[in-house]
Amino acid sequence: MIAVYTDTADKMRSEDKHMIRKTICSILAIILLVSMLPGVSLAAGDSILVRVDIENHYDLARTLAQKINELRTTPDIGYWDEYNYYYIRPYGLTSLSYDYGLENIAMLRAAELSLYYSHDRPDNTSVATLFPSGGYARYQVISQIRGPYVNTIFEDWAAENKYYADQAIRRHFLDKGLTRMGLGCVSVNGIYYWVLLICGGSNTGKSPVPQGSHLNIQASLGLLITNGLTNVHVEEEKLTVKPGQTIYTPWIIAEKTDNRARIGLIDPEWKTKSTGIISFEYPTNEYNKIRGLNPGKTSIYWSASDYYLQVPVHVPCETHTWDAGKVSVKPTYTAKGLMLYTCTVCGEEKTESIPKLEPENIDGILYEFSKSTAIAVDVDSSKITSLVIPDTVVSNGKKYKVTEIAANAFRDLRKMTSLTIGKNVKKIGANAFYKCKKLKKITVLTTKLNASAVGANAFRDIYKKPVFKCPKNKVIDYQKLFLQKGAPAKSKFERK
Ligand SMILES: [Zn+2]
Repeated sequence: MIAVYTDTADKMRSEDKHMIRKTICSILAIILLVSMLPGVSLAAGDSILVRVDIENHYDLARTLAQKINELRTTPDIGYWDEYNYYYIRPYGLTSLSYDYGLENIAMLRAAELSLYYSHDRPDNTSVATLFPSGGYARYQVISQIRGPYVNTIFEDWAAENKYYADQAIRRHFLDKGLTRMGLGCVSVNGIYYWVLLICGGSNTGKSPVPQGSHLNIQASLGLLITNGLTNVHVEEEKLTVKPGQTIYTPWIIAEKTDNRARIGLIDPEWKTKSTGIISFEYPTNEYNKIRGLNPGKTSIYWSASDYYLQVPVHVPCETHTWDAGKVSVKPTYTAKGLMLYTCTVCGEEKTESIPKLEPENIDGILYEFSKSTAIAVDVDSSKITSLVIPDTVVSNGKKYKVTEIAANAFRDLRKMTSLTIGKNVKKIGANAFYKCKKLKKITVLTTKLNASAVGANAFRDIYKKPVFKCPKNKVIDYQKLFLQKGAPAKSKFERK
């Protein structure tokens, strides 16, 4: 897509090229309408410095300049008069000189087009502000096209076989009164922005000055917002500045919705609601700063139109004064916990880990506790000969029902001969008594066990002919259950 037209600044000769394509007319009309919409409320100042990421294309720009001079020096070249009646062949045309001063301006203008596609500059000033005073005649031609197509641009501008109304740029090319030109071409996300500046007067004689891939451009924030910003954000999650020191205010990063140009709003006007913790400084010839005043936590915010951004700012003390701390993550028997400490002066936070909970040894059995129940998980000696899982245990003055024997809790207790399982046990984990080779007398007081509550191999590889004493109503049930869970085939099951 190409939009081509000329611009005449102050004191310039007025000459307009009609729109080449109707679609472009409508697009430009929309841009005009949008930019006239009233009521964009800005908290920030109207004009802002914007950094835009671009690719420079000096080679393309100078190739196009060459083509213009080739056209200009073609014998018998001409254009239609305003009545489309006479074909005018200017006599004695010579090449335009290539003016690197103009080129620099044109490159900047091309970058500006990626922010605001208009003959005016993104800060709403005229292009005339870029020229040295003196008021020589000059024209600005702008185009945008998806792709690096020099020929397409040239053919559009040269407008061969078209009549007067469409030959404005061609007439500049063939204007005897013009003497020099400079071209700009930059691309943003595959869209190429072209600017031709063409003038009379004498060459400024400057040598080429390549510009960087980032350009700082003064732009109207209102105009940028009206023309569409997206993904408006800051890259800093939080800022820290010590008392008496300064840091730069963060840039605001955004993309243009029309071409996804990545731009940075430099020195946006941040504000803060708190007093006494930070202050702002606006040095000349330097970016804006935040000064840390007194220890504390605050934030800065920026808002414009629908956008609102906030960044926390922390001014830390030299030496923190930590509070007593509070548990932010409770430790468990399998994972560490976290203790959160807060500085009572500046609000700084730090965490320290809390060690995992350790099982408690009560009468030789290790227990883990939940709210009101205890789980037997181990013994303190593998030489134990008799094990009694009690009905309840007391820890820190509180009574807990022993409801569970953990998986593997008492496996490999090779000297144990007798075992009593308390009346509150509801669950026995897998392999709980696996390979207790001498275990031959098992007294079961609980009536709460069933197939899903006893893990696989709980009684496997114990003594070959053990005796299970069971509650009277449970003898048959438990016989079936324990045999399923690994009890030897020759086990006896008796009433207690
Ligand atoms: Zn502190």
